[in-house]
Amino acid sequence: MRVKPPTGPVCARCPVMLGASCCEVKEDERLATLTRADVERIAAHTRMAARRFVVEEGLTEEEAADYEGRRPLYRGYFRRGPVRLTLAVRAGACVFHEKGRGCGLPADVRPVACRLYPFERWPDGSWSVQVGRYGDLAEARAGGDACLGVEEAESMEDVLATFGTTREAVEELGEQLARETREHGRG
Ligand code: SF4
Ligand code: SF4
Repeated sequence: MRVKPPTGPVCARCPVMLGASCCEVKEDERLATLTRADVERIAAHTRMAARRFVVEEGLTEEEAADYEGRRPLYRGYFRRGPVRLTLAVRAGACVFHEKGRGCGLPADVRPVACRLYPFERWPDGSWSVQVGRYGDLAEARAGGDACLGVEEAESMEDVLATFGTTREAVEELGEQLARETREHGRG
């Protein structure tokens, strides 16, 4: 008997169809980059100490410069030193990830990077998506680093519709991230 593919919101179907969501990582992978504003919002909402959900990743000066060079929304992030704040991992997933349910944080408390994903602003100022499109679910599963919303979409308009957002809303989030990144860098 053929197994029926799951239906429902794309982020609920993603782990079933691709094997993992973007909130789950392999051993050498890292999750979203956090600004101090993200950490403060999450700590205020969860009443958790930052050390319970934040990990500091030390980079070389070159790695930090390369990171900012490829991601204009993070320009100025490493002004005070090449240390990246990211989400802690527990059992192969973000500490806030709830198996089968997704993110345990309310949408407006999630790190801005998580709210933006999979949209990305590139060094030339254009917007598109962070991940490539395999065009084939089996290849996407084998290749990893894929997003089901992107795999199923035919165009940028489709990706925006899949995630229930608009270009304007994505750009507004981008402005918020760039602003909070500058504040982060100033310390
Ligand atoms: S904070 Fe939420 S959306 Fe972001 S990686 Fe963790 S579980 Fe996923
Ligand atoms: S944003 Fe993309 S990769 Fe993340 S859970 Fe949703 S469909 Fe999967």
